[in-house]
Amino acid sequence: MPVRATKRGAARTALDRDCDVLVCGASFAGLTLARELEGTGARVLMVDRYEIGERQTSACAAPTDWLELLGLNGAIRQTFPKLVVHTSRSTAHWQLPFTFSTFDYRELCALLREGSRSSEFETATVERLEPGALHTVYTDRGVLRAPYVIDALGWRRVLSSSQPIQPPGARLSRGLEVHPPGSADELEIWIDRRYVRAGYSWSFPAGEELRVGVGSFEPRDRVKGGTVALATDLRLEPVGYQGNWIPHQLRPATEHGVFFVGDSAGHCLPLTAEGIRPAFYFALALGRELRRALAGEITREQALARYSEFSAKHARDYKLLLTAQRLVGASTASAPLRWAVNSLNVRRLAFWAFNRYLAITPPEFVQAAAQVK
Ligand SMILES: Cc1cc2nc3c(=O)[nH]c(=O)nc-3n(C[C@H](O)[C@H](O)[C@H](O)COP(=O)(O)OP(=O)(O)OC[C@H]3O[C@@H](n4cnc5c(N)ncnc54)[C@H](O)[C@@H]3O)c2cc1C
Repeated sequence: MPVRATKRGAARTALDRDCDVLVCGASFAGLTLARELEGTGARVLMVDRYEIGERQTSACAAPTDWLELLGLNGAIRQTFPKLVVHTSRSTAHWQLPFTFSTFDYRELCALLREGSRSSEFETATVERLEPGALHTVYTDRGVLRAPYVIDALGWRRVLSSSQPIQPPGARLSRGLEVHPPGSADELEIWIDRRYVRAGYSWSFPAGEELRVGVGSFEPRDRVKGGTVALATDLRLEPVGYQGNWIPHQLRPATEHGVFFVGDSAGHCLPLTAEGIRPAFYFALALGRELRRALAGEITREQALARYSEFSAKHARDYKLLLTAQRLVGASTASAPLRWAVNSLNVRRLAFWAFNRYLAITPPEFVQAAAQVK
């Protein structure tokens, strides 16, 4: 079990502070954004309920190009040029036009944090927002005020004023995985009703551990039984549980003067539940707009409108993936699905499909974002 590092008791002094930019949430989206704001001279404060890197929020696999271009190679554990996909009756080997890598969450967070040393960090649980020209954010340690507030708090979208997002009724998928010690060479996926009725299961090796889990597109379906069954079939001990809800629909990227990024904005891709690369991508895009606003080139309202428009421009891709998710979810044991899986054995088809998939949030965006700094 991970050791809890968050300051508690007397170490938790009261907070009452003003800053220029308040980044709520210090995981993939929040840390990337804080790094993008380095050098602006703005007073940036980041808050999270846990210490940075303390709570792993995913199986931590992402396209290698993204990790390398962001300078995060040091956290990589294993790299995979193909994906092995099992259905109930067959196994396909999809050659990829790019590689995926698994990485260590704590190390990756530390690397991102190294790039944002002039921003401050506090552990606090964010509770709610009072919107205004100067927003007020209430936390369990007191009150924070800033004209620029970012919700990078994950699926719950804490700073929204809309109805709370409540599973299992909300548009969410759910994922659960175990992290047994062990090693393997293949990045593997199962689309098999033995483990989950509508969704898929995975085994992602990461050096000396494997991340074995189940994701269900249907939030009412339980995922623990399938996770244990898959680990058992792989002769692994189901230990080191971690799970979460996963948004599978794009949400508005701004609301009452607040910016939302990563899972809070529904940026996780439907079908694959790949949420790390979109969190990086949209955080870079948001950083670009905030830098302009902080430099006085555009107003806060213009930054909100530009970022909102940028996010919404991706709606078509998200809708397509959601349609694919619904089709896969409705047909996990069907012959057409097996045919589709096996057809990607053809290298040209797999390259075409995965290049299109990568282009939704392309790694070249890292260089493009750096050029406008
Ligand atoms: C089991 C599982 C496996 C996954 N595997 C992958 C994978 O291999 N690859 C991939 O690309 N995606 C994966 N995903 C999806 C991915 O984890 C998310 O899309 C990604 O973490 C989103 O990043 P984020 O920064 O927006 O939010 P998060 O990573 O969820 O971070 C939110 C941060 O906010 C903090 N926080 C939350 N509420 C509060 C509060 N009230 N006050 C203060 N702090 C708060 C949290 O502590 C956390 O640090 C997986 C998801 C699950 C559930």
